[in-house]
Amino acid sequence: MANVVIVGAQWGDEGKGKIVDRLTEFADVVVRFQGGNNAGHTLVVDGEKTVLHLIPAGILHPGKSCVIGNGVVLDPGVIVMEIDRLKQKGFLADDSQLVVSLDAHVIMPWHKAIDVAREQALGAGKLGTTGRGIGPTYEDKVARRGIRVRDLLDGDRLLRKVRERLPEALEEIRRLGAPADLQAEPIAEEYARHGNRLKRHAAESSLALHRAIRAGKSLLFEGAQGTMLDVDHGTYPFVTSSNTVAGNAATGSGVGPTEIDQVVGVSKAYCTRVGGGPYPTELRDETGERLRRVGNEFGATTGRPRRTGWFDAVALRYAARVNGLDGLAITKLDVLTGFPQPKVAVAYRFDGRTVEELPGDLEDLERCEPVYESLPGWSEPLAGARSWEDLPVAARSYVKRLEALSGVKVMAVSVGADRGETILLENPFAR
Ligand code: GDP
Repeated sequence: MANVVIVGAQWGDEGKGKIVDRLTEFADVVVRFQGGNNAGHTLVVDGEKTVLHLIPAGILHPGKSCVIGNGVVLDPGVIVMEIDRLKQKGFLADDSQLVVSLDAHVIMPWHKAIDVAREQALGAGKLGTTGRGIGPTYEDKVARRGIRVRDLLDGDRLLRKVRERLPEALEEIRRLGAPADLQAEPIAEEYARHGNRLKRHAAESSLALHRAIRAGKSLLFEGAQGTMLDVDHGTYPFVTSSNTVAGNAATGSGVGPTEIDQVVGVSKAYCTRVGGGPYPTELRDETGERLRRVGNEFGATTGRPRRTGWFDAVALRYAARVNGLDGLAITKLDVLTGFPQPKVAVAYRFDGRTVEELPGDLEDLERCEPVYESLPGWSEPLAGARSWEDLPVAARSYVKRLEALSGVKVMAVSVGADRGETILLENPFAR
């Protein structure tokens, strides 16, 4: 029995969903603790593709439960739709399999309207948010005027809260030059309907998790986005609105930090990033284009092309530190097949100096040039590899080099999108 946190060690889209899906076998409960439906997990089980934005990927395993913790912001329309789709596919037969925290904050229509209107107003300087209202919902949470799942369960309370908040939200939308035609009553009605659907899942999730731990169950905490997008530890302000690092698994779920046994970071064998912000190893050339094409680097939620580049060991060392990583899962190693000399940034050049730690200041980071080490490539396709020994020697030394550069043990290597295409070297639940 162990409780394991899985987080993205880069800029998100590392393939966390796939690693979580693989490790769910060893867990009883899968917990999401931050983010909203801007995360997108693409899962392929026996060739069948399922995209999930909010519900933990563990839901595809019958008999496991999934918890959406208090740290998540929730679009009730989206979760109800995901529930319906899962049920159509024969999953989630038992409603008790999904628990939604009563304290999770709800994304309201004005949050989405503000999000979209702000991005439009910013024009070229936009942050590249997904327009799903996540940021504005977290703002309202911190400003202590948010609406929570528990409010959806009481129609009168909900209408009162919507009436309280809406005028100011409309003022902001108008100021941003967008149409402000939202009305309190229909919103409250619609959201109360969603509340009615969610009632059977809504619970004091911290207590539910506490009981699960006491009963000897194993928890798997599933992070969304990645370390470099953390609101405190990422490349601020080009970040998401929540803490993506492992520490937030405790805060975002109401489970004490002493209950967490292992932290695993997921990292691609190269690097990608969505949206604006500094990205030292970005390749704006043919090689970057090839990584994008071969790695199919387009967002699961938005379809946007991702920025691509070589692996950044400086950023990974940073991720190892701020998450306290015990292990690494390296994904998409197969994508590097056929690159004659894959490179890894081992340090940065900055103002004529070589630096090995990630500069804290964004402007400094923007001026950093990667110091690359070239590694031997391999030409064999990796998709068929099922064990460490199946990997070509050059692919093995590539992984070993990432391990040495980050100082974190590689626990898993992924060589394809399917569930079977993960080589598990060490099980964090059995450590
Ligand atoms: P997440 O949000 O971190 O789970 O990442 P995404 O789901 O947005 O992106 C990962 C994408 O890569 C998905 O389309 C996965 O199916 C795919 N994928 C995951 N692992 C591998 C791998 O090892 N090789 C290949 N080729 N694709 C992978």
